[in-house]
Amino acid sequence: MPDADFENRHFPSADGATPMMAQYLALRESAPKDALLFYRMGDFYELFFEDAKAAAAALDIALTKRGEHQGEPIAMCGVPAQTAEAYLARLIRAGFKVAVGEQTEDPKAAKARGSKTVDRAIARIVTPGTLTEDSLLDARTSNRIAALARTPGGDCALAWAEVSTGEFAACPCDASGIEAELAALDPAEWLSDEAYFTADARLAPRARLTPLPKAKFDAKSAERRLIERFGVVSLDAFGAFSKAEIAALGALLDYLELAQAGAPAKLAPPRRVETGSALAIDPATRASLEIDRTQAGQRKGSLLATIDRTVTAPGARRLAARLTRPSTRKDMIDARLDAVGFLAANKTTRRAMRELLQAAGDPERALSRLLLGRGGPRDLAALGKALREGETLAAGLGQALPDDAAPALLNQAVATLSLTDKGDLARFAADLGQALVAEPPLAARDGGFVAEGWSEALDETRALRDASRKIVAGLQKTYAEASGVAGLKIRHNNVLGYFVEVTAKNADPLMASDDFIHRQTMANAVRFTTTELAELEAKIAGAADRALGLESEIFESFRTRTEDLAQGLRQMAGALAELDCAAGLAEWAVETRSVRPDMVEEPVFAVESGRHPVVEAALKKAGDAFTPNDCALDGAGEAAARLTLVTGPNMAGKSTFLRQNALMIILAQAGCFVPAASARIGIADRLYSRVGAADDLARGRSTFMTEMIEAASILNQAGPKSFVILDEVGRGTSTFDGLSIAWAVAEHLHGINACRALFATHYHEMTRLAEELDHAANVSLKAKEWKGELVFLHTVAKGAADRSYGIEVARRAGLPDAAIARARTILERLESQDAPAAALADLPLFSATPAPSAPAKPSEVERRLTDINPDELSPREALDALYELKRHLPAKDT
Ligand code: ADP
Repeated sequence: MPDADFENRHFPSADGATPMMAQYLALRESAPKDALLFYRMGDFYELFFEDAKAAAAALDIALTKRGEHQGEPIAMCGVPAQTAEAYLARLIRAGFKVAVGEQTEDPKAAKARGSKTVDRAIARIVTPGTLTEDSLLDARTSNRIAALARTPGGDCALAWAEVSTGEFAACPCDASGIEAELAALDPAEWLSDEAYFTADARLAPRARLTPLPKAKFDAKSAERRLIERFGVVSLDAFGAFSKAEIAALGALLDYLELAQAGAPAKLAPPRRVETGSALAIDPATRASLEIDRTQAGQRKGSLLATIDRTVTAPGARRLAARLTRPSTRKDMIDARLDAVGFLAANKTTRRAMRELLQAAGDPERALSRLLLGRGGPRDLAALGKALREGETLAAGLGQALPDDAAPALLNQAVATLSLTDKGDLARFAADLGQALVAEPPLAARDGGFVAEGWSEALDETRALRDASRKIVAGLQKTYAEASGVAGLKIRHNNVLGYFVEVTAKNADPLMASDDFIHRQTMANAVRFTTTELAELEAKIAGAADRALGLESEIFESFRTRTEDLAQGLRQMAGALAELDCAAGLAEWAVETRSVRPDMVEEPVFAVESGRHPVVEAALKKAGDAFTPNDCALDGAGEAAARLTLVTGPNMAGKSTFLRQNALMIILAQAGCFVPAASARIGIADRLYSRVGAADDLARGRSTFMTEMIEAASILNQAGPKSFVILDEVGRGTSTFDGLSIAWAVAEHLHGINACRALFATHYHEMTRLAEELDHAANVSLKAKEWKGELVFLHTVAKGAADRSYGIEVARRAGLPDAAIARARTILERLESQDAPAAALADLPLFSATPAPSAPAKPSEVERRLTDINPDELSPREALDALYELKRHLPAKDT
C-alpha cells in the first residue's frame, strides 16, 4: 500500500501536531457528533480515539494504538475498504451512524504538489434511513425515513422518503394519529424537533429517532428549499401542502442532503397523501393481527408472508405498502380488485406476465443508486433489462386485454411500459443492450463492462493491449530458446510488472547475459526483466489505462442519461411493481379459492364461509382442514346485529374467528380477494383489534393497565364506520372487576361508538346483553363430548355457548382428578346462585366434595359398574343392571 505508507510516515508523533492529525481532527469536527468517522487511508477505513473504541467493541475487532496525541496514545482500529459494507451494516444495525471520510485526490497528486497529506472530505453519512446498498437492505422490505413536524399552531404532519426508490411524500395527521401513521410507515429512522424529543421517542420504538434543531422545521425556509430543489415556481404544482407538511418535507430533504454531503437528494417530486385515504390501524392492532410481521417480529407467519406470491422485490414492497396501508377509497379499491380479478381469470396471461416480471428484476433501487452516484454497470444493465422485459410484457398484456372492459390499472401499466411512443427510453434501452456485456461487474472502476463493437476507440485500445499481451506470451518461448533454460517463465505482479522467472539453479546463464537484468532473488527463484518487456509493459499499461478511461466515460454518459430519463424510468419501475403485485394477488386468490369482495359504503359486513388465511395455511401444512365460518354484522343494526358476543370453550377457535374477520377488512381494502365463499364488506375507516394482553414491560405498564389504555383508545375513537374485535377484555383483573368493565365496554361500543364489533368473552353472564341491547347477538363455537373427550368443531353457530368447558379443558391439561372434582362443585355452586359472592362465602370447604388432597374412594355405584361387562349382557340384563345401579345412588345432598 504505497499510498498509506506515504502518509503513515507523517502520522502523529509525540507532539501530536502533524498535518495529518490536524486534518483528521478538522474532519472529525465537521462530521456530525453522533456519527463514527470512517477515515480513508489507502485500502482501509481507520477509526481513531473514542470512535475506534466504540467500533472495535461493536464489531469485535482488534483495537490497536498508533502514535500519540497530547501525550496519550491514540486508540485505532480499521476495516478493509473492500469489505467495508459488511462492517457498515453491522454498525448501523447496532444503532450507529457513520460519516465516511474519503480521499478526494490521488496520493501521487498530493505528493507532487508537496503536500504531506492527501485531501479528504466527508463523502456521505450513513444512517439507518439513508441506506441504498443492496447488501445493506432487505430487497422485499421498504427502508423509509420519516420526519414529524408541528407548527406553532399545533398542526402536525409527517413526511417520508425512501432513498433507495426515490419515494417522497407527506400527509397531515392529528396528534392522536401520529402513532398509527408511523406504524403504517414503519420507518427505519425518523426525525423530530428536539424540543419534543423525549415525548416522541416512544412513538416508533423500532425506529432510530434523530432529534433536529427547531430551526430545521421552519416552514418558510423549507418551502424555499423544496422550490429550489424541484425547480418549480410554487409547490402547488405537486398538491396543496399545508405548512406542517412543507416543514416536514423540508426538514427531511435537508437531512438527506446533509447525509449526501451536500449533494442534491434524488427524490421524486413530493406527493401529498390525503388523510383518511387509508384505513387507520394503530400499532397495537397491527401487532395483534400480525399484518407484516408476527408478534415475535418475524415476517414468516405474518399475513403478508402468507399471501405474498410476488416474483420481484419491488412487487413485494408494493404489496407490503398496500397491506400496511389499506385504502378507504372505494374507487381505488375497486380498481385494484378489477386488476386482480382479470388476472385471476386469465391464467395464461398471468403466468406469462409473471415470467417476464421475474426477469425484469428491481429497476427501482438500481435507478436510485445510479442517481445518487453509487450505481455501477450492473445497475445500468438492470434498467435496460427492465425496460425491454416491460416492453415485451406490455405488448403481450395489451393483446390479452379486452378492448371494452379492460381494468384501468392494467391499461395504464401497458401504456407506461410500452416504448413505442417513448423514443428516448426506447433508444436508451436499445443502447444499453448493445453497450453492455452480458454479465457486467458491480463496480465501474475495474472496467470490462462495455461490450465489443460499442466504441471503436475502446475496441482499438483493447486490441493494442491484447496484441502486446500476445507478444509477451510469445516472448517466453523466445527467451527460453535463447537462454537454453526450458523452464523459463514470464510472470506478472503489481510490483515488478512483467518479469522473467527461472529456478535458482538455472539462473547462471541469465546472470551472464546482457539482455537479462537481475531484479530479485527469492528462496527458489530468480527474477529478471528485459528492456523489451519493460516497453511492452508500458504499452499494455497505457492501453489498459486508456481503455479504463474510455469505459468510465461511457458509463458516465449513460449515467447522465438516467438523470434525464429519471421520471420515465421511475414510472416504468412503478408499473412493473404494480403488475407484479396484482398478478401475485391473483395467483394467491386462485390458489386459495378466494373471492372478490363486494365493496360498499354502508357499514355492513356479510361473509359466508370465511377462513383465516394464516391459520388455514398452517393447518394445510399439517394436513388438516380449516372449518369455514359465516359472520354477519351491520353497523346500522338492520341486516344483522351491530355487536356480536362470541362465546365457547377455550381453544374452540374464538380468537381465530375474530381475527379472520378483521383480516377480511384489511385484505379487502388493500384490494385483495378474500378467503370466503362470498363477502359483502362496508368500507371501514378504522380497525381495532385487541386480542389478549401481554405485559408491556418495555413501557413499564402492567398487563391490565395496557389492556385498559388500549380499550380506552377504542372507546374514544371508534365511530360508526369502524370495525372492532375485542377478545377477553378485563382478563387482567379480579372476576367482578373484569366482568363489570367488559360489560360496560360492550355497552359503550354498542350504544355510543355504534361500530361493528365482535366481542369474545369467557364471562358467560355477558351473553344476557343480547337480550338487553337492541342490536346485539350471540354466537358460539361448538364443541361436543365424545367418548368422554371434548371435541372442538370450530363451527360458529347462533346463540350462546351452553356451558363453560373450562374445567374440561383443565382436565385434559392434566389437572389432578381431585382438583377437577373440586372445581366442578365450586362451579355448580356459583351457577346455582344469583349472587356468586354469597355462594362462595358459604361454600362448604370440606363437606360436599372430598378434600382435594385425598384421592376419592370409589363409591358403591362405581364399584358395581366396574364389575359389569356390557358385552356379555343381554338387553334385558342391561336394563336390570341399570335399575340396580340407580338404587345404589347416594341420596343427593343439598
Ligand atoms: P380460542 O380463542 O377459543 O381459545 P383459538 O382461536 O386460539 O381458540 O383456536 C385454537 C386452535 O384451534 C387454533 O390454533 C387452530 O389451530 C384451531 N382452530 C381455530 N379455528 C379453527 C377453524 N375454524 N378450523 C380449524 N381449526 C381451527
